[in-house]
Order: sequence, then C-alpha cells, then structure tokens
Amino acid sequence: MKAAKNTVVSFHYSVSERGAAEPLDSSRERGTPMFALLGHQQLVPGVERALQGREAGEHFEIDVAPEDGYGERREGMIQRVPKKYFQHADRLKPGMQTVLQTRDGGQRLVTVHKIGMSAIDVDHNHPLAGKTLHFDIEITDVRAATPEELAHGHAHAGDGHQH
Ligand code: ZN
Repeated sequence: MKAAKNTVVSFHYSVSERGAAEPLDSSRERGTPMFALLGHQQLVPGVERALQGREAGEHFEIDVAPEDGYGERREGMIQRVPKKYFQHADRLKPGMQTVLQTRDGGQRLVTVHKIGMSAIDVDHNHPLAGKTLHFDIEITDVRAATPEELAHGHAHAGDGHQH
C-alpha cells in the first residue's frame, strides 16, 4: 500500500539541524517508530509531503526549510516570568527547555533565554523554529486508517485506543 491521505504511516526517523552530526531526536533511540494519519496536520508539511506515495521498506533523506517545518523564529516571543512559576528554577540554565504552567491550567514548552535575580526570560518560539532540518526516514508500515481514526483526526497505536 502506498502512503496517501487517510492512510496511517509508521516510520523510524532521526532529525538533525542541517550540517550537524548529532541528531536532535531519533525514534530509533526510543525503539518504537513514529506513526501518523496523513492529511490531518499531524506532521510538519515538509515531512508529510515527502511521505506521499512511499511504501514500507523505503529509506530516504530530506531537508526541510523552516517554512515547511516549525516556522520562522518570531520576534517579541520573549516573556519575563517570576521564578516562582517554575518548578526547578534553581536548576535552569539558558538554552534549556522547561514546562511552564499557564493561567488556564495548561502547560507550555518554553526555552530559557536569560536568568535574572527574581525572574526568568523565556522564549515561546518552538525550539526548532528558524532551523533547516535534515530528516532520515525509513518507512516500516503503511495501512488504511480505521473509521475511528478518521473520526478523531489522528492515528491510534496498533492495539487500539490509548488517550
Ligand atoms: Zn483517538
């Protein structure tokens, strides 16, 4: 079966900043492939497009520019937040990622920008924003989506529903 809209594609990947040797993230290190329902904005556009028409066993590499990846870095995304809103403020260093509790009870992944006496400046840009990324992708499975997956707009793990 070929990957297309409304199929579920499973694949191993590693992603690095173009030109860097060390991967930023790798499904092979975790041991389980990534899976996604195509055509439902589950993946960045550059990866989604590269998967179209592929079959299990295919192995390829692509470069994804910021506009097809996590977007450009935006100015004005730095926010000064009092240290009491961080769980382990004393352990944070610039460049580290941490989770910030939001007023509505949600959570946001932010990057530490600068540490002050009583407050920390955080960057709300996605950590991969503005970067051209190199993906190494190996497709392990392509299958038709189930009616439940189509209704939910995302893929489920092989043995059913887990969210
Ligand atoms: Zn679901």
